[in-house]
Amino acid sequence: MQTVNLKDLVRPNIWALEPYSCARSEFKGEARFFLDANENPFGEYNRYPDPLQVALKEKIAKIKGVRTSQIMLGNGSDEPIDLIYRIFCRPGVDNVVAMCPTYGMYKVAADTNDVEYREAMLEEETFALLPEKMLALADQNTKVMWVCSPNNPTGNLISPEAIETLLNGFGGILVVDEAYIDFADSPSWLKRLDEFPRLIVLQTFSKAWGLAGLRCGMAFASEEIIAIFNKVKYPYNINMLTQKAVSEALDNARLVDGRARYLVGERKRVAECLTMFIDCVEHVYPSDANFLLVKMTNADAAYAHLLERGVVTRNRNRVKLCGNCLRITIGDDNENDVLIAGLVAVK
Ligand SMILES: *Cc1c(COP(=O)(O)O)cnc(C)c1O
Repeated sequence: MQTVNLKDLVRPNIWALEPYSCARSEFKGEARFFLDANENPFGEYNRYPDPLQVALKEKIAKIKGVRTSQIMLGNGSDEPIDLIYRIFCRPGVDNVVAMCPTYGMYKVAADTNDVEYREAMLEEETFALLPEKMLALADQNTKVMWVCSPNNPTGNLISPEAIETLLNGFGGILVVDEAYIDFADSPSWLKRLDEFPRLIVLQTFSKAWGLAGLRCGMAFASEEIIAIFNKVKYPYNINMLTQKAVSEALDNARLVDGRARYLVGERKRVAECLTMFIDCVEHVYPSDANFLLVKMTNADAAYAHLLERGVVTRNRNRVKLCGNCLRITIGDDNENDVLIAGLVAVK
């Protein structure tokens, strides 16, 4: 693979973009009176939040083993997903390649940005990613490839060898979405960020951290790519309450490990119960995430039956390669028991 200049991957208008300059970013030094940003002097939330979330990123950098300059924080992962299109893909001209089935937001964001979305089917039943298939779909206008590992909704980790083949064989941006990595028994690609300048790793506070309501996602990449994210994102994209609450959660990071281990234990227990005792379950796919993809004899019937008992699952029956499958989130032991009991009577 010959070396690729980042400039050749970025939309020309974005490369040339002169970003908005926040009032607070323009002064240096110590100040006591802030009369620069047209804020109101009264109230608890009267000040604009830190646009670059420096204090928060310092804590994240320590925990994740990266530099603060390699982190962008977004309003959920949705924000970096959308920004990746807006930064790299010229509407109506460029395209992206993704695996299928996978997380639906990659396609929605492609459609809203008028970017062609090409899909490479995963292998049937194993849901393995076949890198040659993805590479074969790429042409000179393919700017981004999407890999989700562990994958939603199939639950499996994508093999590091397959991802490395893409990193070495594709000259554009490779995104690895690791929303569920804390439930997997495998290292994050963050460790290899310095090796691959066109790699973007996405993580989130919504799953293992249990903070979906705060809307905070993380993108990790080279300093050069993060600088572009920073000029395109809304200046104050992470509000003050979210910054504060995420910062507090980071001070209690050990709690997160314990909870992730608990959910992984429950995942094993639920998988065994479903496999051994529930007649309407045909197969429980191996999972590296906090959910199980379960093949039922009749997914629509099982879904409706559970719903009557107040249990809502995700019916993936109409998703490619997931016929008759429900995606079932692992809850606490009580919730999981209700789920299992609810499936006993299903034929
Ligand atoms: C849940 C999930 C996310 C997280 O989205 P947020 O916007 O951060 O809540 C990202 N990617 C995948 C594949 C997911 O399943």
